[in-house]
Amino acid sequence: MIIVMQADASQADIDRVVQRVEGLRLRPHVIVGTERTVVAVVGDERDAAGSGFETLPGVASVMPILAPYKVASREVQSEPTVVRAGSLVVGGTSIGVIAGPCSVESLEQIVETARQVKALGATALRGGAFKPRTSPYSFQGMKEQGLELLAEARRETGLAIVTEVVSPEDVPLVARYADVLQVGARNMQNYRLLEAVGRTQVAVLLKRGPAATVEELLLAAEYILDGGNRQVMLCERGIRTFETHTRFTLPLATVPWLHARTHLPVVVDPSHGTGHANLVPAMAAASIAAGADGLIVEVHPDPKCASSDGAQSLDFPAFGRMMDLCRRVAEALGRTLG
Ligand code: PEP
Ligand code: MN
Repeated sequence: MIIVMQADASQADIDRVVQRVEGLRLRPHVIVGTERTVVAVVGDERDAAGSGFETLPGVASVMPILAPYKVASREVQSEPTVVRAGSLVVGGTSIGVIAGPCSVESLEQIVETARQVKALGATALRGGAFKPRTSPYSFQGMKEQGLELLAEARRETGLAIVTEVVSPEDVPLVARYADVLQVGARNMQNYRLLEAVGRTQVAVLLKRGPAATVEELLLAAEYILDGGNRQVMLCERGIRTFETHTRFTLPLATVPWLHARTHLPVVVDPSHGTGHANLVPAMAAASIAAGADGLIVEVHPDPKCASSDGAQSLDFPAFGRMMDLCRRVAEALGRTLG
């Protein structure tokens, strides 16, 4: 349920509500809005029956949260969440652009990419150090050494680092380096991993599983939010369908659908969503037209030599053209790219 505080409720009023909620062995999430504060109460709500919150000083009203996801819901927070992680701002009027290779391969590759994508307007650098690969024989990533190279690229350019974490035990290590922890599509329903990233205060990019519904995506986000980490971005990266002309099918109706139901920002990945570099710029522009708050795009200095996902990676000139196109669409919608 949601406990809506009066506009003039004092901190003591809010603290009293929080203590009462905790006394019922439920979890309070205090959400401070521009107009008023609400306390979202999660847990087994049967424990709250007849608890009389309406009568506490400073409480305006008490309502049920109808959506199965609670803290992620627009019912709890009507204003959009803006995720800020170093140079990256995603949400509100800002459209963040995360660009870089699928995998970190060498110091030269990652620093050169960071410099080039920054010059072309990217606001964060992506690069996988721990790679979840379909085949155990494919390149698995440079692991901790790759994280060191990402940190070097950040020192050189100031770009925030977005990198994937694939298992709960790696979270403390990856969180020491990353500005944004990426939870990959294959791990969207790895609930122990979601809990582990939820215990950090590092921003999270949560990718949709290729066979997950958007409601399941929101419930996965809820694990992170319920852990206390509110800096969560949702990412549409394509789903599996009968269609074979693209690697996945990229459903852009996800973006306005999610915006109607959640305050969390939505990022689109047109690289994995299409699997073909020549389709990426148009789908990036279409994502912005659909209301996306960010893009994550694979860019490589020499895509044909990439250790992973070369076919869907843009080279620097193509990324520059994509940015020009996307900037025009963003401006037409009154938003800023980067
Ligand atoms: C990636 O970003 O390189 C990646 C593996 O993405 P996904 O989890 O969406 O497949
Ligand atoms: Mn990839």
